[in-house]
Amino acid sequence: MSEKDEKQSAKRSECGWAGCPSNGEVGLDERQWCRGHFFRVASKRLEGCRAIVGDLAENRQQELGAAAKFLTELIGQSTSLAASAQFLAPAEREQLLEISLAAADCWKKLQDRGRSQRGKTAQIAQ
Ligand SMILES: [Zn+2]
Repeated sequence: MSEKDEKQSAKRSECGWAGCPSNGEVGLDERQWCRGHFFRVASKRLEGCRAIVGDLAENRQQELGAAAKFLTELIGQSTSLAASAQFLAPAEREQLLEISLAAADCWKKLQDRGRSQRGKTAQIAQ
């Protein structure tokens, strides 16, 4: 790695995963992640979103709002990663597709839930 490269990588944010030496490639949830950790973080957070969206018994507006925000970001970042990273390995492409589909599915459920409730709740889908 040349000195110039080192400076550039130092300027870029590092992966937010503790102990990961890679540079951040994808932003999510106010942090930068390398590709591999983006998949891991996204999968984990998606599970949380599914649990929140699926929990019909509780009134959890704050969590729903946060889930909507996260899903919007995740869908956007997955799309741009798919478009920009032409060198994605087949397994990575598969993971990305899986995450995109899961995020879209969760997003749809969130919107359906918003519609089925009264008043302000619909705004979470904005
Ligand atoms: Zn990493």
